[in-house]
Amino acid sequence: MKSMTEKTNEKVPATQLYIDGRWVDGGAGEILEVKNPADGSTIAAVACGTREDARRALNAASRAFPSWSRLTGLQRGSLLRKAAALMRQRQAEIARLMTLENGKPLSQSLTEVEGGAQHFDWYAEEARRTYGRMIPHQIPGKRHLTLQQPVGVAGVITPWNFPFILLARKAAPALAAGCTVVAKPAGQTPLVALALAKCCQEAGIPAGVINIVIGPAEDIGREFLENPVCRKISFTGSTEVGRILMRGAAEQIKNLSLELGGHCAVLVFDDADLKTAVQKSAGAKYRNTGQSCIAANRIFVQEEIYQSFLEAFVEHSRGLKVAPGLEEGADIGPLIDEPTFEKVMRQIDNARSLGAKVECGGVRLKGEKFDRGYFVTPTVLTHVTDNMLCMCEETFGPMIPIVPFSDEQEAIRRANHTEYGLAAYIHTRDLGRAFRVAEALEAGSVGVNDDVPSTTIAPFGGVKQSGLGRECGTEGIEAFMETKHVSICLPG
Ligand code: ADP
Repeated sequence: MKSMTEKTNEKVPATQLYIDGRWVDGGAGEILEVKNPADGSTIAAVACGTREDARRALNAASRAFPSWSRLTGLQRGSLLRKAAALMRQRQAEIARLMTLENGKPLSQSLTEVEGGAQHFDWYAEEARRTYGRMIPHQIPGKRHLTLQQPVGVAGVITPWNFPFILLARKAAPALAAGCTVVAKPAGQTPLVALALAKCCQEAGIPAGVINIVIGPAEDIGREFLENPVCRKISFTGSTEVGRILMRGAAEQIKNLSLELGGHCAVLVFDDADLKTAVQKSAGAKYRNTGQSCIAANRIFVQEEIYQSFLEAFVEHSRGLKVAPGLEEGADIGPLIDEPTFEKVMRQIDNARSLGAKVECGGVRLKGEKFDRGYFVTPTVLTHVTDNMLCMCEETFGPMIPIVPFSDEQEAIRRANHTEYGLAAYIHTRDLGRAFRVAEALEAGSVGVNDDVPSTTIAPFGGVKQSGLGRECGTEGIEAFMETKHVSICLPG
């Protein structure tokens, strides 16, 4: 690929790698076409890097580390805040890019850009609150204190489903902590990651402090794992790739944070407010076209209200507008790609063949507007059994089984009957039950009458095979820091 001229107009998307403060082509001159999942058209040709580019980026990050980490938290924070302001200024542009490359409804893209800016703002504040502590001594004349120090260069790997906020969720705390960053966004959605880097660049974050390398995932992942310059890997994606990284990290005992798959349950008790429970369960299911690691994957409803919940949920599902994400009023966009579509359809067909009833949806939309994308109508399944794929595999699409239960113990047992443990949702007005069930659920986050438990200010992560470590909240910055103990014998 010919060298591109540097683009400074924010309305023109950045399409080159960002390494050491410069926009550059990949070493091998390859390009990657970014497709619009709504119609298969090519939106942009982006420079595609190599393992060697990842190495150059890690070296740049390593050179930038001493001076970046020496700044005060206040100084780093003020640059992060400027980046957040630029994200807000460019919210409409970035959101449009996100809908083009990811497919999600524009309203959700706008919310996501604001969410990314909030991460930068919040960690701008946290940058000056990375307190160590004094530990009371046991031997006269000795003193003990702890320092919080940045781990060093961080390699971050992010998926396509929330391409802006998930990068912000790693980059903001890493930069606030004093780490420098090499980010590898998903190949399907590189444009908003480049837009984020551009905001950082124009905010005055120095060269090498944040770098973006797009390219073959396995090669770049291996460079992060095998290059000792990279001291930390923070990954969001599938459990399968999480396992690969965990195995690879063993060689250098590399510091890892993993945010992996989920199979989240919603428990609706008979004392819940029915209308709210339906609306919020639907939100937890259909947001981002069901392509979320904390998406509702199984809804369990207490027998007494099962029928009325089901009818209302089906009616709500039928009322959702399935359309390209840029269309006014779209609720459900296209699935990202063919493998994702195939997996959803396989789960629906498998359930049907084993005796499940399709209460609504279950089909791919046809017609001029839909034929070149993967649009699946909101699908509700009943009469499902635990041997069906939809009850054990993660579902990344607008499909949901709704299952009756009799009592609290059964609800908890069924919700926990999965190798995953990312999030769970409860709908009840009984405070005692809310606490009992929240405490018994094996999940990193529990939403009580709440379909959006994920927020900048509180820890997020999984138990069991949903991951290791926590992002967001004060835990999010700790993930990029090491605790050092300094032991002092006072002279004389
Ligand atoms: P998804 O199924 O959501 O695409 P993946 O786990 O495949 O989830 O991808 C999440 C991120 O991990 C993407 O940026 C992808 O390119 C990257 N990735 C995929 N395989 C590897 C690998 N072997 N090593 C490192 N990163 C990988």
